[in-house]
Amino acid sequence: MEKTKTLALLLLLFISAAKAQSPAAGNARNPPAADPKMNSFITRLMSKMTLDEKIGQLNLPGAGDITTGQAGNSGIAKKIEQGEVGGLFNIKSAAKIRDVQRLAVEKSRLKIPLIFGMDVIHGYETVFPIPLGLSCTWDTSAIEESARIAAKEASADGICWTFSPMVDISRDPRWGRIAEGSGEDPYLGSRIARAMVKGYQQDLSGNSDIMACVKHYALYGAAEAGRDYNTTDMSEMRMFNEYLPPYKAAVDAGAGSIMSSFNDVNGIPATANKFLLTDVLRRRWGFNGLVVTDYTGINEMTAHGLGDLQTVSALALRAGVDMDMVGEGFLTTLKKSLGQGKITAAEIDFACRKVLEAKYKLGLFANPYKYCDEKRAATDIFTLANRVAARRIAADCFVLLKNNDNVLPLRKGGTIALVGPLADNKENMPGTWSVAANFERSVSLLQGLQDAAGQQAKIIYSMGSNLDADSLFEERAGMFGKNLHRDSRPAAAIIRDALDVAAQADVIVAALGESAEMSGESSSRSEIGIPAVQEDLLKALLATGKPVVLVLFTGRPLTIKWENEAVPAILNVWFGGTEAGHAIADVLFGDVNPSGKLTTTWPQNVGQVPLYYNHMSTGRPLEGPWFQKFRSNYLDVSNDPVYPFGYGLSYSHFAYSGLTLSKTSLKGAQRLTATVTVTNDGNRMGKEVVQLYIRQMVGSITRPVKELKGFQKIELKTGESRQVSFTITPEDLKFYNRDLKYDWEAGDFVIMTGGNSRDVLSAQVHWTK
Ligand code: BGC
Repeated sequence: MEKTKTLALLLLLFISAAKAQSPAAGNARNPPAADPKMNSFITRLMSKMTLDEKIGQLNLPGAGDITTGQAGNSGIAKKIEQGEVGGLFNIKSAAKIRDVQRLAVEKSRLKIPLIFGMDVIHGYETVFPIPLGLSCTWDTSAIEESARIAAKEASADGICWTFSPMVDISRDPRWGRIAEGSGEDPYLGSRIARAMVKGYQQDLSGNSDIMACVKHYALYGAAEAGRDYNTTDMSEMRMFNEYLPPYKAAVDAGAGSIMSSFNDVNGIPATANKFLLTDVLRRRWGFNGLVVTDYTGINEMTAHGLGDLQTVSALALRAGVDMDMVGEGFLTTLKKSLGQGKITAAEIDFACRKVLEAKYKLGLFANPYKYCDEKRAATDIFTLANRVAARRIAADCFVLLKNNDNVLPLRKGGTIALVGPLADNKENMPGTWSVAANFERSVSLLQGLQDAAGQQAKIIYSMGSNLDADSLFEERAGMFGKNLHRDSRPAAAIIRDALDVAAQADVIVAALGESAEMSGESSSRSEIGIPAVQEDLLKALLATGKPVVLVLFTGRPLTIKWENEAVPAILNVWFGGTEAGHAIADVLFGDVNPSGKLTTTWPQNVGQVPLYYNHMSTGRPLEGPWFQKFRSNYLDVSNDPVYPFGYGLSYSHFAYSGLTLSKTSLKGAQRLTATVTVTNDGNRMGKEVVQLYIRQMVGSITRPVKELKGFQKIELKTGESRQVSFTITPEDLKFYNRDLKYDWEAGDFVIMTGGNSRDVLSAQVHWTK
């Protein structure tokens, strides 16, 4: 009897413990959250919450026009007081945020603090180069440093959550948002994703780290035809091997949140995609954080054709979305859906718990004003040290594409003609996503050259052309205050002025390319050359016979086949951020030796797109010179890019020799060391990114012709040689097979090293299981 009673009691205890823990202690969707103290705090809090208050936590509106001291009168105030808001985004300054937070913690029934987000994408007020540019440094510690500085500045202004890193792989330069990512390679993309997350949120216990949000999950960069928001359709093998790795790397690095993307994936919008949001993200990868939609991502599923707002909101919640950005689909329909049995209370509880956990992890329950130290802005934002870092990192991301006859570096002397619509334009220097920037404080190329040259050289300037002949196009390409200062005179008159200026100079620097808003969101292009009016200017400048340096501004790979043939020197400078002008001058004058390497392939024309280095081999690959009938090639253009992935020159030169392998036959978990000698045989100290590629010769599925598997950025003095070694283990050979199992296969592998993906030394190994 006693025994039966004890057993019954134990059973009761077990059931109630399990109940108390659910869903905190994990359910089928999610492994248990690590912090029992947090779990019980939230369980207690949630037991006091009404259904409406729980749904309110899932609501993330934009901040609108709240001004300091007026938060209480803003349209959003009432909602906050009624517990209908979980967080706000795009509101700036500690004082303003304190005001708004006060509404939540003093006026709402349960005093739950708000979370404050912003698109802090490549810096805050100190703007770093656009992410595509940053990736070209191949310097993960510099990238981490840029994220750390951004976090410090944003947190000093009240912000605790950034919608970054953007880790979408893209192989389509028509897509404007290629500017926001790290290029085409999943290995490099993963390394950078990890570095960014580490930079933002190493230790959330202080008040200078902020929560990262990985985006846009998933496959947003694979939009058909490179048109933003467009459909994606892709095999799961390709997804897992080529597109998902950076999201996973960011999740593994501990990113606190993830954003679902606008696009559909194999017929189901990502925001309602249970396979992506629950099966892969939570179950397979064990993600424990918060899932937020992109801006009105739920509402847009109506236009996708999935049903009315109530239907799509229910679909999103059931698929695994926790927080609804802007659209208020959750706020306005979930209660009804619950009443109609279309969703469950457990699903609402789960999402609410994830929002509350994010706030708990940020320490907002302990101190809701943790990020509202008004004094910090003066000491932590836009500091000299931060600008020095921005200048150094910008200079390291520029890619020297061509430099015939050592036109570069320029001598600090004589007369330099600076020409082009981007030459004297501060506003465009920060690039896309510079929401917190003060454009007045960014440095134009003209100012940068003048500051660097001082009295030593004379810099003379002329605009030379508009950005584009079509004023309407120019309007579309000059949004968010990024004025292009259009000259209304005929193009010929503007060129004539520039030629007058050029006539007085020893060398011409042409600052041409895209404006900042010609890439980024909703900035896809079907032709990706330099606009014709600027090319006319360039032709006229070349016709002077004087040396011309093209300083190319762009947020994407451009088709510059002709320019590559005709112009003696091309320095690609992306959008370098606040200190762009100084950093470009540093490189043009040779105070910094360029070391950036491309992280995307640059095609000859749009017809070749998608063109990427890590493609599969076809059954009829082109071997030998173009053209060959019945081989995989075009009648009108070769398969070659203008510049391959990994490419970039230096004012010095690096020679590769003697690739050696520690073994040529390996078994199981043995390690292979590949060593190559790199020599600086130029006449300047310089940095080189030594790259390692591997090809699996025979596989159970088709395998890429090469895949980046390692890189090291080294610095060598003139004449110095260094042996650079890479350790390779079976881990580096793994891929997702047809059963989506992550494993490696025995066989022959070609190991390649070089300074870009095309020009490599290779050696072969045989690896058995
Ligand atoms: C973009 C996101 C961004 C969000 C919030 C959306 O339009 O796609 O990248 O984080 O807006 O500003």
